[in-house]
Amino acid sequence: MVENKVLSIIVPVFNEEEVLCMFMERVSKVIKTIPTIQAEYIFINDGSTDDTLEKLIELKKTYPQIMIIDFSRNFGKEAALTAGLQYANGDITIPIDVDLQDPPELIPEMIAKWNEGFDVVLAHRSNRDSDTFLKRFSANCFYKLNNKISTPSIPDNVGDYRLMDRTVVDALNNLPESKRFMKGLFAWVGFKTTQVEYVRPERAAGESKFNGWKLWNFALEGLTSFGTAPLRVWTYVGALVAGISFIMTMKILIQVLFMGIDVPGYASLMVAVTFLGGLQLIGIGTLGEYLGRTYMESKNRPVFIVRSIL
Ligand code: UDP
Ligand code: MG
Repeated sequence: MVENKVLSIIVPVFNEEEVLCMFMERVSKVIKTIPTIQAEYIFINDGSTDDTLEKLIELKKTYPQIMIIDFSRNFGKEAALTAGLQYANGDITIPIDVDLQDPPELIPEMIAKWNEGFDVVLAHRSNRDSDTFLKRFSANCFYKLNNKISTPSIPDNVGDYRLMDRTVVDALNNLPESKRFMKGLFAWVGFKTTQVEYVRPERAAGESKFNGWKLWNFALEGLTSFGTAPLRVWTYVGALVAGISFIMTMKILIQVLFMGIDVPGYASLMVAVTFLGGLQLIGIGTLGEYLGRTYMESKNRPVFIVRSIL
């Protein structure tokens, strides 16, 4: 007889009262079709201001396998995922969005791959038609740039929805940093990885919790979390500008000393001053970005605070 395996399903929720019931119905229906799997549901209530917590407590009466981790305030999805991974007891763990954009029907396929011996099974979006043009374009640029400058590269069109073996979850839980860009951390730990394909549907109800500004900051977070290329590039920019200025100096000296040309200087002077000023500010900004990260890490604050566990 095959031994039952425990699957931990991690669900971060932030103001999601409309979709909770729908989500539980869809997921538990899928889980029932896998006889060797016993599921535990870890909901992280990420400081919701609507009736999400009450709805979850209500749901727990029907589904006693639910565990609710109630945060003291909104700490963001990355913190919620971090908490979920720490509380997960399963042989396998799957983080999933509650809005049903990560179709639970993929779970059996993922588990089949795990049974074949893979430690990580990514859910890969075969298209992003449900996203706006701007979101697709910016995501594309982010992955292109990130994968040029950071190692290891983050697989594109893959979200947080994935299956992870116990060993992977343990590895993630052992990473000490408090600024947690999960997509990057997932990629960083490595392990034997494969993927399954799916089409990402629209949100089942409610609204996206990520606006443009949040996504921009998220991208900066990613770019500065996994490499120092943005810092290093200034050495090369500096060398290039110094080289050009040397050539310019020579040209002007020759003109003035040997040809006796009175060099009109205002325009070139202004261009040089403003251009170099801008460059320096960008360089300082980049330095500041990393300094800020070091500062935040050095505080050693916890990633999240749990108000209660239900
Ligand atoms: N979420 C969260 N904390 C936040 C923002 C979002 O826990 O501060 C959760 C949200 O409830 C959902 C998941 O993260 O389960 C994905 O959010 P959303 O669907 O808004 O993101 P999108 O699909 O638009 O990228
Ligand atoms: Mg969504």
